[in-house]
Formats: sequence, C-alpha cells, structure tokens
Amino acid sequence: MTKHNGECSCGQVQYTINSDPIFTHACHCTLCQRYSASAFIVHSLMEKTNFSLERGNLIETMGPSGSGKGHTIKRCQTCGDQIYSQFSGLDNLLVLKTTTLNDANRYPPQAHIFVKSKLSWLKICDDIPSFDAFYRREEIYSSESIKRFKIALK
Ligand SMILES: [Zn+2]
Ligand SMILES: [Zn+2]
Repeated sequence: MTKHNGECSCGQVQYTINSDPIFTHACHCTLCQRYSASAFIVHSLMEKTNFSLERGNLIETMGPSGSGKGHTIKRCQTCGDQIYSQFSGLDNLLVLKTTTLNDANRYPPQAHIFVKSKLSWLKICDDIPSFDAFYRREEIYSSESIKRFKIALK
C-alpha cells in the first residue's frame, strides 16, 4: 500500500497520505506565487479520506482563488506553513502542498498550469504539458484518475 509522510517546517504537523495523488500539477498563477512567496506551488489533488493527520494542529485561513469562490488553507498552528487547500464544491477532495512531503520527488508535476503568468526568468522544459490557464481534466488525467475524481464528486 502506498503510504508517505510529510510535515511542516517546524515539524509539529506530521501527516500521512495513503494513496498516490489523483493528479499533480505546478501552478504558476499570481495567487500561488504570493501564497508560496515563491515562483510556483506544486499541488496534488487527492481524496480527503487518504490524508491522515498524525500529529499537531491545523488551523484554517481563507484565501482568494482563481475562480473567485475562495478556498480554505489548512496550516500548521505554530509555523503557519500550508499543508493543504480545500475548494468549495470539492468537499471530498483536498489539494496537498506536494513539497511538504518528505519525498516530494515521488510526485513530480504532470502539468504546468497558468503558464501565462509564469515568472519570465523561469525556464520550464516541455516534457510535460503546459497550459496558459487550467486544463480540462478529461484531456490529461488517466482513466483511473478520472474515475477517482468522479467518485469523489459524489
Ligand atoms: Zn509547523
Ligand atoms: Zn495557482
């Protein structure tokens, strides 16, 4: 069984994921650049039931989202690091901050999104698809991932 651990930078929050993500992408939107104080965020979509908090407390902050509906960010209570986000209408899913995994190399991005706002000095190689904005899930997810996504929407 797939099981991987992750933690925040202060180490108080520790979690396990019990499955591979449904899909992982690198988001270059200007909001993600602000949220991460960096060039982009790597995000992994997965079922909430496959995430378990092992230690520490998560607090919630609200933030804007590209859709305008906003989203909830779960953070370490102590250091404030983001662990995952939740979006309205996707109640059974969470969007993990992939690089909080201890072995984040395991889930490289499968797409770059919002490349239209990518920082100009950042060169991305073209061996994975990039999109000016978001993608249509049907065109890029594996059939297995589409299935998992649809089940989670129910
Ligand atoms: Zn922390
Ligand atoms: Zn983004």
